[in-house]
Amino acid sequence: MKIPGLTGQESTCRIMRIGNGYDVHKLVKGRKLVVGGVTIPFEKGLLGHSDADVLVHSVCDALLGAAGLGDIGTHFPDSSPEFRDIKSMKLLVRVRRMITEKGYRIQNVDCTLFAEAPKFFRYRQAMEQNLAQAMEIEPDRINIKATTTEGLGMFGRGEGIGAMSTALLE
Ligand SMILES: [Zn+2]
Repeated sequence: MKIPGLTGQESTCRIMRIGNGYDVHKLVKGRKLVVGGVTIPFEKGLLGHSDADVLVHSVCDALLGAAGLGDIGTHFPDSSPEFRDIKSMKLLVRVRRMITEKGYRIQNVDCTLFAEAPKFFRYRQAMEQNLAQAMEIEPDRINIKATTTEGLGMFGRGEGIGAMSTALLE
């Protein structure tokens, strides 16, 4: 944008906006575990209206938050049959379109998963690739980390998996 009263290089600056997203889903028997668009072999899966991809949901919320576009529940309500069992990556593609239409570009996205099990390390690269593809950015703009909660609380007891994401838009 142009800043009145300034000339040359000083007169233009990039608008940067930051957003965060947080999501938790319950682990239950008889469901596939899908995280970051990767189906991970595990004894339980996440419960939800969609494929319950907790990581993708937190990324969607971070992007929507940064763009000032509300949250995932407003745009894709879980009361709607349209979103039943939908691949969350499809929602992320729609979110990316929405923020692109508002003129924003994704600078980077940083994510943390909270779970006692499984270990996500070996799936990290595949998850980053999937997210990069959906957001149409280079994989090195995405960073995925995972942590346990040292056996404490809902994650420590293996009741669910949580994800937290931060997105920077330009
Ligand atoms: Zn969710």
